[in-house]
Amino acid sequence: MPLVRPSRRSLALAAAAATLGAAFYGVGAATADPSVPRSDKEIPNLTNVVNDIKAYYGDTTVGSEHYASADSNYARQLAGIEAKAKSDLAHALKHGKDGKDGKKPAIVLDVDDTSVLTYNYELEVGFAYSPASNQAYLDTKDMPPVFGMDTLANWAADQGVTVFWITGRPEAQRADTVRNLTAVGYTAAPDTAHLYLKNAANPPAYLACGATCTTIDYKSGTRAHIESLGYDIIGNFGDQYSDLSGGHADKSYKLPNPMYYLP
Ligand SMILES: [Mg+2]
Repeated sequence: MPLVRPSRRSLALAAAAATLGAAFYGVGAATADPSVPRSDKEIPNLTNVVNDIKAYYGDTTVGSEHYASADSNYARQLAGIEAKAKSDLAHALKHGKDGKDGKKPAIVLDVDDTSVLTYNYELEVGFAYSPASNQAYLDTKDMPPVFGMDTLANWAADQGVTVFWITGRPEAQRADTVRNLTAVGYTAAPDTAHLYLKNAANPPAYLACGATCTTIDYKSGTRAHIESLGYDIIGNFGDQYSDLSGGHADKSYKLPNPMYYLP
C-alpha cells in the first residue's frame, strides 16, 4: 500500500489546478460532475478535520510526539468490532465450519492500522506519508498495537487458528515488520510462511496480475493462495475496503481509519 499511496496533498493540488483551469480558461460551464463540490460549504475544513481526528483518537503527547489513548472513542469503536469478531470466530470454531473438508482455520490481518497503529507516525509527518519517512520511522521506532487486536489475534492463535498477515508494505520492510509485530506482543510467528508483503520486483507466480496487481488483486489473490494451502479464512481484518474486497474470506471486519484512504 505505501507503494501506491499518492500524496493526498498532490491530489488536492491537482484538483485545485483543474478547477482553476476551468475558471480561467472557460472550458465549458461549471463542471457537471456531481462528485465535485459546488460550494466550499460542502467540503470539511481541513484544520477541523485534523482536530476531529485527534479528538477521536484521544490524542495525547509525550514530548513533541502524539499518541492515541486506550480510552478514546477510537479504542471504544474497535472494542465493539473485536467483540463481534471474537464471537463470530468462536462460533465458527465451535460449529466446525472451518473443519469441513479438512480445512485449517485461519485469520488474515492487514498490518498498518489493523495490527499496528500509524497514528504517531501520521502526526509526526503531518499525514503526508512517504516511503522515506515511513522507513526512517521504522528504523528507530515500533508502532504500538492497534488497541485490542493483539489480544484478539493471540486468543485466536490459542484456539488453534493460524494467523496470517497480508500487507501492502514492500518486501524491503519485512525485517522491520517482523520485529515490530513481535515486539508489541503478537504471539503468532510472522515468519515467511505467514507474513506476505508486496513484492513488486519479483511477484509470486500465484498472482496472475504480477507486478501490475491493484491492492484488491494482490490481497484477494494472496488470500486465494492461502486457501489453496488448505486453510479456511474464517475472518479477514483490515482498515481499508481494499483489504477486504475480492472475496476469499468467510467474514470481513472493517476497522476504523479516518486518517487516509487507499484504493
Ligand atoms: Mg492498513
